[in-house]
Amino acid sequence: MEERGSPDGDPARNLEQGPEGPETPIQVVLRVRPMSAAELRRGEQSVLHCSGTRTLQVSPPGGGPDVAFRFGAVLDGASTQDDVFRACGVRRLGELALRGFSCTVFTFGQTGSGKTYTLTGPPPQGEGVPVPPSLAGIMQRTFTWLLDRVQHLDVPVTLHASYLEIYNEQIRDLLSLGAPRPLPVRWNKTRGFYVEQLRVVEFGSLGALMELLQMGLSRRRSSAHTLNQASSRSHALLTLYISHQTQMPPVDPGELPAGGKLCFVDLAGSEKVVATGSRGELMLEANSINRSLLALGHCISLLLDPQRKQSHIPFRDSKLTKLLADSLGGHGVTLMVACVSPSAQCLPETLSTLRYASRAQRVTTRPQAPRSPKAKPPQHLETELLQLQEENLHLRSQLGQMDPKASGLSGARVAWAQRNLYGMLQEFMLENERLRKEKKQLQSSRDLAHGEQRILAQQVRELERRLLSACYLQQPGPGPAPPCPCVMVSPLLCHAPPPLCPHCQLCPLCRASLAHWACPRRELHLPQVFGSKAPGDGPLSARPPPWAPPCCPSSAKCSRERSHSEWTQTQVLAEMLTEEKVMPSAPPLPAGPLNASPVLRGGAAVPNLARRLEALRDQIGTSLRRGRSQPPPR
Ligand code: ADP
Ligand code: MG
Repeated sequence: MEERGSPDGDPARNLEQGPEGPETPIQVVLRVRPMSAAELRRGEQSVLHCSGTRTLQVSPPGGGPDVAFRFGAVLDGASTQDDVFRACGVRRLGELALRGFSCTVFTFGQTGSGKTYTLTGPPPQGEGVPVPPSLAGIMQRTFTWLLDRVQHLDVPVTLHASYLEIYNEQIRDLLSLGAPRPLPVRWNKTRGFYVEQLRVVEFGSLGALMELLQMGLSRRRSSAHTLNQASSRSHALLTLYISHQTQMPPVDPGELPAGGKLCFVDLAGSEKVVATGSRGELMLEANSINRSLLALGHCISLLLDPQRKQSHIPFRDSKLTKLLADSLGGHGVTLMVACVSPSAQCLPETLSTLRYASRAQRVTTRPQAPRSPKAKPPQHLETELLQLQEENLHLRSQLGQMDPKASGLSGARVAWAQRNLYGMLQEFMLENERLRKEKKQLQSSRDLAHGEQRILAQQVRELERRLLSACYLQQPGPGPAPPCPCVMVSPLLCHAPPPLCPHCQLCPLCRASLAHWACPRRELHLPQVFGSKAPGDGPLSARPPPWAPPCCPSSAKCSRERSHSEWTQTQVLAEMLTEEKVMPSAPPLPAGPLNASPVLRGGAAVPNLARRLEALRDQIGTSLRRGRSQPPPR
């Protein structure tokens, strides 16, 4: 006796709850169809017996051992369509779809086992003849229940539907306005696999939805063969999209509405071509059906292997597995209705279906729903909205006037956002994010400009210092205080910065600080570079500049008589400056001419500094020429 794993506990309780946790198993229920009139006529025996509500016994003919299978629910041939609807747990999926989950119900089994009957009832008896209400399948009953349910919700809901079939590995839109044409399946990170250009129809009443169903059913491919007079030759997927009106509407016209999904999949049945007697086109169809079902079985097997589940699952092997990828291994909640025939003639296929279904209920998904708009109380939303509005205004005032077109909001979306609190919140969040980025960019270019300004100012100071040093060294004796650079520059070009130290000597013309070494507190200016201890104990103004060559304290000539080599050193220094060599203590200038980028980078200070730098170079040149015209002191 064989017993396969199944979830423990009360099935009804499980079926009405939400996802059981992060890992939710696929829910599987079994439906055994009654013996058909033809099977009874042929005298075929039933080999299936239900034992309780969840166990099925298989008694092979010829007296072999019984085999038992356990499922979420087992419904025997005497069960009505309403029994199946109530026991299978589809209402739980409907509730989850209303909460934003992506849910799938699919029927599975051998051809002629009752899959289409279970989902949509018996085949229509004629054009436009509806299925009698007592025989309506899971789909019609779910539609009725769902539309009744949304009427009693606090939040208004928008409903859309799409209906497609996979026929010979081609996707056809069963709701297309013209003749169905093949549509491509695409993949992207946010949506996973999806059908491009699929028609999604909004509906507002049960009648409208039933019409869409009838339209699809009548366009779906079906043929007669030995085992089924109206055998479906394609896999059909009808999807309901449930979006709350507080959710963002799709941005692109082709985009599916955000929110929950409830998808009904009527698989074409696996068939033995020999048993069904399919030839020609029928055989081609059967082969493509079997191939896609094989791909589905392969994916399920791999999903069952805990080690393989983390790695590659070949969902791309068929269109069917692509479109079921999320339901099988992704974030969906899935219900499988396995259908079997009780006849002993179908036993091999029945056993295969039962084993397949037993394994499928060990496959788990990780259901995920988008955050429900109900999760936040409206008060909280309003507070957040006000905060964002305030931040928005603040950012706008910081960045100055903004072009309304630059906000990137299309007219329709703005209009929609104005009507909708939650939408406005999201729009503000997006816009604030954009404004923050813009502000950051401006801040970084401002920092860059400050950096450049600092470099230029440093260079100007360095040149001033060196110029004064050159002038001072040209003096034969201690003499008076070093001359100010401004005596050699036209007054217009003289824009000296304010003195750095209150104790410094100031030039009476341009108010530039005189040589730092003449300042009684020069340690404050250059202590790190030249050492904090002043050489000598004499009056500070009389000391040599720190960069003057060191001299022997005992020498009488020290600081009074300059040698010829000292003069040469001054000359070399001055030449270095006029030839625009890089100063050892100055950082390199930015590439390009000095006044090339005042617009963005430096503001008004940069051209001033550049002019000042230029003036200093002129001074050095003049000083050098004067120095050359005088004979070196002896
Ligand atoms: P499948 O879709 O699995 O190929 P169908 O749903 O088309 O099979 O069913 C095959 C035939 O069996 C149809 O004529 C259908 O009306 C009949 N049938 C299936 N299940 C039942 C049932 N539970 N009660 C009565 N007739 C059924
Ligand atoms: Mg069918």
